[in-house]
Amino acid sequence: MRPSPMHLLFLFVDGVGVGAPGSTNPFSYLRLPALAELAGGQALAGDIQTRAEDTVLVSTIDATLGVEGLPQSGTGQASLFTGLNCAAIAGRHFGPFPHSSSRPFIEERNLLGEILARGASAAFANAYPDRFFSYVETTNRWTVTTLCCRASGVELRGEAALAKGKAIPANLTGEGWPGDPFSPITEETAADRLLDLAHEHSFTLFEYYLTDKAGHGRGNLDVEAILSSLDRFLARLLDRRDESVTLVITSDHGNAEDMSTRSHTRNQVPLLVRGPGARHLSGAASLLDVAPGVLRMVGTAIQPAGQ
Ligand SMILES: [Zn+2]
Repeated sequence: MRPSPMHLLFLFVDGVGVGAPGSTNPFSYLRLPALAELAGGQALAGDIQTRAEDTVLVSTIDATLGVEGLPQSGTGQASLFTGLNCAAIAGRHFGPFPHSSSRPFIEERNLLGEILARGASAAFANAYPDRFFSYVETTNRWTVTTLCCRASGVELRGEAALAKGKAIPANLTGEGWPGDPFSPITEETAADRLLDLAHEHSFTLFEYYLTDKAGHGRGNLDVEAILSSLDRFLARLLDRRDESVTLVITSDHGNAEDMSTRSHTRNQVPLLVRGPGARHLSGAASLLDVAPGVLRMVGTAIQPAGQ
């Protein structure tokens, strides 16, 4: 019998914490059926009931990393993608770009590189406009995830991949795509494309950051529209995911769950998993536990048949 391969789809959603319910927490008052399903049939707010089963994990994890102040994306994401406490190493939360003290760790032991080193395949599904590449080569302003890719040789997908359906716009639909003209797709098509990519690799990462941007009140983004769009995307992922795919969703720090402030928060962030790898993350308590759990999952996935 052919062993069924396992695929990990890692959805990194920037700036989503689990905060107190109320009129300034859109996660508590909006109807978000897919997020509610992922959260085990409850709104992603307040004291959520955790669940840890073989194929389901509903939990929250610490994003403050024992460091005072408001968590930031640079150190938070570096910690998430290396398993090292990059905020403690930097002596503070720092972002949105990586702190200089995080860069060597991101370059030498990031999750994507570690996955490749175990003989598994890894993809970063986000599409970047071609002008991003010249910009970043000139400015050297790599984000944590793009630096992970660059350091480990994982392809950064551009407009050619987007045109072929082999990459996903960061805002899911490609509405307002800043590069060559592109006909927007639906959230459902974006989800289908992402699942297709997930089936081609052991590990596929997609990064969604509009939640953080909306939480900061930037870009005239309506947080309710953003969350509804994200929920449609998640609904399709849940609907079309088969049991060879483990879906992992987490964030780097809170923000959009508290619209009374434009800043990040110190709230815990969700860790939501569906699929056969869920148990590998069941003990996760902070951002630092995610990369090791993902590596355990990938290690299991590439175990030869019959062992
Ligand atoms: Zn932010």
